[in-house]
Amino acid sequence: MEKVDVIIVGGGLAGLSCALELSDSGMAVLVLERGDFSGSKNVTGGRIYVRPLKDYLPDIWKDAPLERHVTKEILTLMGEGNSTSLELFSDRFNREPYPSYTVLRAKFDRWLADFLSEKGVFVVPQKRVDDLIRDGEKIIGVKAGDEELGADCVVAADGVLSFMAEKAGYRQPFKPEHFAVGFKEVIELDPKTIEDRFRLGEGEGAAQLFVGALTKGMMGGGFLYTNQNSLSLGLVVGLHALNQKEPREETFKLLDQFEERPEIKNLIKGGNVVEYSAHLITEGGLHVKPKLYGDGMLVVGDAAGLGLNMLVTVRGMEYAMASGVLAGRTIKMAKEKNDFSASSLSHYEKLLNDSFIMKEMTNFRNTLSVLENERLFKKYPQAISDLFEKVMWVDENAKQSLYQTVYEGLKQNFLNLETFKDWLQFRKM
Ligand SMILES: Cc1cc2nc3c(=O)[nH]c(=O)nc-3n(C[C@H](O)[C@H](O)[C@H](O)COP(=O)(O)OP(=O)(O)OC[C@H]3O[C@@H](n4cnc5c(N)ncnc54)[C@H](O)[C@@H]3O)c2cc1C
Repeated sequence: MEKVDVIIVGGGLAGLSCALELSDSGMAVLVLERGDFSGSKNVTGGRIYVRPLKDYLPDIWKDAPLERHVTKEILTLMGEGNSTSLELFSDRFNREPYPSYTVLRAKFDRWLADFLSEKGVFVVPQKRVDDLIRDGEKIIGVKAGDEELGADCVVAADGVLSFMAEKAGYRQPFKPEHFAVGFKEVIELDPKTIEDRFRLGEGEGAAQLFVGALTKGMMGGGFLYTNQNSLSLGLVVGLHALNQKEPREETFKLLDQFEERPEIKNLIKGGNVVEYSAHLITEGGLHVKPKLYGDGMLVVGDAAGLGLNMLVTVRGMEYAMASGVLAGRTIKMAKEKNDFSASSLSHYEKLLNDSFIMKEMTNFRNTLSVLENERLFKKYPQAISDLFEKVMWVDENAKQSLYQTVYEGLKQNFLNLETFKDWLQFRKM
């Protein structure tokens, strides 16, 4: 059996970042990607925060094909027939180094794979890994079709369903409550139209999140990100909520209905859909963390369950990239000792625990239990929008005082034991 130092299964952000960290090590590193090219099968919202990555990948951002730096954050609470938006524009977001950018994975991952190839790392597309090869407990290589390839270390970077982690016996069976499904369209529009519609300066971007009627009370929400010359529009729904919904919802229709809302319709008017994708998202946080290392193997990115729904933003790409780098650092240390045993590779978990990833995963460990509350996705967005609508409404009757209007609205929907309990629950986030 032919042998290299490291085989990375999956050429997404986690796998490519691991390979990048190893690119100056002198080791023979092979990235096997089942898609036609890196980025071809990868789905994200997407916005990437670059500041958390500055100690992990300091040098790639200058040339990376990022879309727009996000200067405007919009949170929209959707009711039936109305919605309320909270919009934040901050000078701080518009000052270099910019904190976050919108990104298209088909471009970004492909660029990163090409960048790696220039550094001598082999990223092999259209190569699906089917199985692991073992020697007792130790993972010693992979099978791809008829081919067998050996390695001192195999890195499972194969995304949310990670068959590699499953085959290694590192992962528990899936539970629907730990996953959501996302649907996304990329809609082409010219840059000037995007900037006018979102009131942005040249090159500036907006990130808009939606909670409420669009998911029909199910846990989830919508997103809209402005790219250079396209919009990324999508919707995410918890699998568990979807399974329990009566009557059943055809999820892909939710995106069509979302697009029909005037709040969206006018933003995407005249645009061409150039990409449609659907993908699972890991939302279980620490509850789904698999075993992260073993004899001859490490697990990174979504495969390691490293993703969070923080309600106001989704995180996964930075975790994928940073965990890939930390796996790379661990492999370099293991190479120095020529020891790829579980004990040697356990260093990866220590590095992860000391990183922002596990600190955030711990800070947000109870998020899922908060998000199970249907009122967050139904009652409150509707009640807030109804109240705001009443405040703004003028008709043939004499207008009630503002205080009276607000007080009645609050009394009807918020000044009760149920909301107080929800507020206490919210402290867990
Ligand atoms: C709808 C949606 C919106 C999101 N929004 C955001 C966001 O705005 N911000 C954010 O930070 N995160 C977001 N995320 C999460 C983020 O996209 C993921 O956390 C991130 O893509 C994980 O990267 P990864 O490299 O671990 O996995 P992936 O990007 O899934 O890469 C895994 C790779 O492995 C390959 N592969 C799988 N099996 C095999 C095999 N057997 N052999 C060879 N190759 C294989 C796949 O083709 C793929 O290229 C979103 C996710 C979704 C679905």
